[in-house]
Amino acid sequence: WVQVLFSILLLIALLGTFIYLLKTIKKQNELALLRRSFINNMTHELKTPVATVMAAIEAIQHFGAKDDKVKMEKYLEISKHELEHLHEMIERVLELNVDETNGVVLSLSRFDIRRVVEGALQALQVSSKKEVHISRDLPDEPLFIVGDESHLRNVVANLLDNAVKYSEEPVLLHIRLKEDPERVQLSISDKGKGIDPVHQKQIFDMFYRVPEGNLHAVKGFGLGLAYVKQVVSRHGGEIIVRSALGEGSTFTVSLPMKEVLLKKENHG
Ligand code: ADP
Repeated sequence: WVQVLFSILLLIALLGTFIYLLKTIKKQNELALLRRSFINNMTHELKTPVATVMAAIEAIQHFGAKDDKVKMEKYLEISKHELEHLHEMIERVLELNVDETNGVVLSLSRFDIRRVVEGALQALQVSSKKEVHISRDLPDEPLFIVGDESHLRNVVANLLDNAVKYSEEPVLLHIRLKEDPERVQLSISDKGKGIDPVHQKQIFDMFYRVPEGNLHAVKGFGLGLAYVKQVVSRHGGEIIVRSALGEGSTFTVSLPMKEVLLKKENHG
């Protein structure tokens, strides 16, 4: 019976190894697929502005546009616009600062998240081309957390930017920042176009944009929320969306308070 037991144990061990190998292969395949789709999307997104600039240059060089001041101005303007678009896209991709295994790399410090939110709201009011009305429900005191201040500032800016982009004027926003013993919660609500439930999961995928026929009314790359989600997850937090088409959206980010985060970062 010792032999039988030994054979059974050996079988179990072999089976375990086999399953482990299968899982590893599956994970590798998934990663490869993700990488491929990222590169495909990226190539597509990069090709369009480059092709437009090339066409504009050709028009100037070969089709007499340089003798026509108005046309020349037009093609230069188009080129500038496309290059700005390309530049912004490259910035966004670099911002993702993705490490192959860990995703976004964090640099931690203790800072006041209320100040970061207020700063982002101020910046929005100065820079927004739309009329924006903001109601705030922020704590009276500074709210210190441990996290990556610069990445979290980008998170707030991205969510505010979307709330404005996907709303008609006058834009109505409600910002709420709350803490409980375990986490900090930031909600950004708009009364904009809203997101159909069928798309709500995918909006966090890289390059995903809610389809709008051939032409998108609002410019974007579909990278903002993928970045936001990466940063939030790296902090051990989560992001959820509640939205109804035509009524508006609320994005809520919850971040663990400092103790949880420090443990996570210092002890793996
Ligand atoms: P981008 O805005 O550049 O397209 P994001 O990753 O930030 O990329 O957003 C992905 C998609 O999610 C957007 O294209 C849009 O369809 C949808 N979306 C994001 N935020 C909102 C919002 N506040 N209201 C309505 N739709 C939104």
